[in-house]
Amino acid sequence: MTLPLQALPTPRPEFEDPAVLAREVIDRLTYRVGKDPKVAKPHDWLQATVLVTRDRAIEYWMNATRQTYLEGGKRVYYLSLEFLIGRLMRDALSNLGLLDSMRSALKLLDVDFDEIAELEADAALGNGGLGRLAACFMESMATVGIPAYGYGIRYRHGLFRQEIIDGWQAEMPETWLEHGNPWEFDRREAAYTIGFGGRVEYNDANGKTEHYTWHPQERVTATAYDTPVVGWRGARVNTLRLWKADPIDPIRLDAFNAGDHIGSLTESNRADALTRVLYPADASPAGQELRLRQEYFFSSASLQDILRRHLQQYGLFDNLPEKVAIQLNDTHPAVCVAELMRLLMDVHEIEFEDAWKLTVGTIGYTNHTLLPEALESWPVPLFERLLPRHMQIIYEINARLLKTARHDHEMSDDEIRSISLIDESGERRVRMGNLAFVGAHAVNGVAAMHSELLKVTVFKDLHRIYPDRINNKTNGITPRRWLFQCNPGLTQLITDTIGPVFLDDIERLRDLEPYATDAGFQDAFARVKRKNKDALTDMVRDRIGLRIDPNALFDIQVKRIHEYKRQLLNIVETVALYDQIRTHPERNWVPRVKIFAGKAAPTYHNAKLIIKLANDVARVVNSNPIVRSVLKVVFLPNYNVSMAEMLVPAADLSEQISTAGMEASGTGNMKFALNGALTIGTLDGANVEIREAVGPENIVIFGLTDAEVEERRQNGHDPRKVIEGSPELSQALSAIAGGVFSPDDPGRYAELVGGLYDHDWFMVASDFDSYTAAQRRVDALWSDPSVWWEKAILNTARMGWFSSDRTIRQYATDIWGIAPRPD
Ligand SMILES: *Cc1c(COP(=O)(O)O)cnc(C)c1O
Repeated sequence: MTLPLQALPTPRPEFEDPAVLAREVIDRLTYRVGKDPKVAKPHDWLQATVLVTRDRAIEYWMNATRQTYLEGGKRVYYLSLEFLIGRLMRDALSNLGLLDSMRSALKLLDVDFDEIAELEADAALGNGGLGRLAACFMESMATVGIPAYGYGIRYRHGLFRQEIIDGWQAEMPETWLEHGNPWEFDRREAAYTIGFGGRVEYNDANGKTEHYTWHPQERVTATAYDTPVVGWRGARVNTLRLWKADPIDPIRLDAFNAGDHIGSLTESNRADALTRVLYPADASPAGQELRLRQEYFFSSASLQDILRRHLQQYGLFDNLPEKVAIQLNDTHPAVCVAELMRLLMDVHEIEFEDAWKLTVGTIGYTNHTLLPEALESWPVPLFERLLPRHMQIIYEINARLLKTARHDHEMSDDEIRSISLIDESGERRVRMGNLAFVGAHAVNGVAAMHSELLKVTVFKDLHRIYPDRINNKTNGITPRRWLFQCNPGLTQLITDTIGPVFLDDIERLRDLEPYATDAGFQDAFARVKRKNKDALTDMVRDRIGLRIDPNALFDIQVKRIHEYKRQLLNIVETVALYDQIRTHPERNWVPRVKIFAGKAAPTYHNAKLIIKLANDVARVVNSNPIVRSVLKVVFLPNYNVSMAEMLVPAADLSEQISTAGMEASGTGNMKFALNGALTIGTLDGANVEIREAVGPENIVIFGLTDAEVEERRQNGHDPRKVIEGSPELSQALSAIAGGVFSPDDPGRYAELVGGLYDHDWFMVASDFDSYTAAQRRVDALWSDPSVWWEKAILNTARMGWFSSDRTIRQYATDIWGIAPRPD
């Protein structure tokens, strides 16, 4: 196949002419949505506007694809079980430079852009940070000009929608596809068969090499749905390809006609179930067979697609590592190591040694966690039943690994046990982290501290065999969504102050530094923040009917609810503050609004209890006549990307208070600091690097270090003594455990609080005094506005390095062997 060479589209005036855009919107509304403009509903206008936006991206899209083909450039394939992309319309229009034109076009039609933009479904195809990282990376790869595909699953229901009923989390199905999805193209022609179960046949018919054939018992079809991902200024448009499972034979008509109306549909239902829901993270143990099926389903479909494209262009596999980079976002796609080996050996008849070189040369693996319970493993019997050929291949890889370890590295039995792909300590399990490690040429952590910890904890012994494999790629966030789009007021102010260069070179935000002490600029910066806080104030009123004061310090902790992220520490401090204010109402308290949001995994009991506690404390605090003018507590339901886009620009204080050593990186911390919030945080994850970047005087650090946490856990510590030595903490915990916030069920929190006295694994008690002291330092800073705004401005000025463009350039040069387009 040859493709005609074609120049990139030249900017044409009609590309951004509002009158032309308006005509096209009417055209799509009429001919694609099938609605008369006179009766069209806001949803219809949204649909038509998205279709025009998508069509604007298509020329770029096709040209990018064509150019990569012609140049024979290396392509990156980013495999992730999660893509937390949120809404797309504003993002695409803004990156295409069409935001103002489209706004005017819709005005001509008497349609309000912001109103319809609000109606777009928030695609929540992820749990949290890991999924959002994948979304930021997709945008950055398009921006820095890397030919890339994202591969994932098109879940019919994304993560659940959270409702708060009576203070408790309730999980409702997310119906993001309810109104259709105008962004996607379904590619019926890109469909692959995915097998499960069955048996493996051995034959050496050709006498040369041994050959295995897998005969799966079940089969489903993977069908591709493509969404264009537009880079900044339309630099490039890449593809997010999400797989949906379909039955091979949609309805077994023979069975149906024979009267088996139920049995004839089971295959269809089974396929349907495969891509119906995203498993909530931390629903430990994620031992569901369906989850393993999902992982294999999307890994296999993606690899088949990659190999087909490669073979079509090059006709051989020898150059696979030169033309293909596959990045595994955590271990969810780790079965790729075995599947790529299977496809190369069993389907394309390449011998083990050669297939292994190609596999390792092509795959990279990103680790996201050190928590032992979050390291994926699957029971051997399950794995063997579902993927019998892959189990054989894993045994073969393991045999070679252990042989090397024994002979070349003289490893002890303990070390051998720790590096083995099979955990033999109890029920035998396949360790996906070890599989990904040995099958990849590069293994990266996501912040400097995390990458160092990988070398001395989970991968200590593998690191001894492969000392050059672990590297660090500190996470980043795209400044387009997390500054330009979510905070247009600040973006305009910065442009007016230092010019527009930072829009294309985000580290030039540094040019703001001289203005940090400029009273006029501080005023303007504070006015922008105030406007964003006004908008959030309205949102809080609309969503939960609570009035908050935008003059107060907005103190925000939003992220998944997890004990290691320590929302509990923040709530206990809130209770202690509440006690202090009631005891000393005459003091000059800094008015604060404490804002929480986040989802808990449905099976995570303590996390759900912490949500209930936040709501119980909010009810009591917000109705106390003495306290309520200086302290308010808010829990916002259903945290997602769109909500983050409202919270991030409105925060004064960003809570990043995880137990040291437990947060791999965090990206919420980066979003807030970029938008001029001060961080209160522990020396954990990327906080460490944020402190270096913004300067230790512009961030409020407290608490135990990771080494101190480790030391206490190893040598035992006495949390009861700690609690009894802190009157404020004792009083707050007694109040919570005694039912002050839960008069309807006084014992509700007895066990939760008991855990703090008993073991306090997450060091809530140990860090309490240090945390409250840090909060009072925050109060002192807030009380001197010129000091506060200087620090806030310096945060914005110095956060440019945390752009995901920087992260992606590092992946490109160090892991993928691609030269990104220069700035
Ligand atoms: C950025 C983001 C996260 C990650 O937040 P952390 O504080 O790093 O855990 C999670 N969810 C959403 C919706 C986000 O935008």
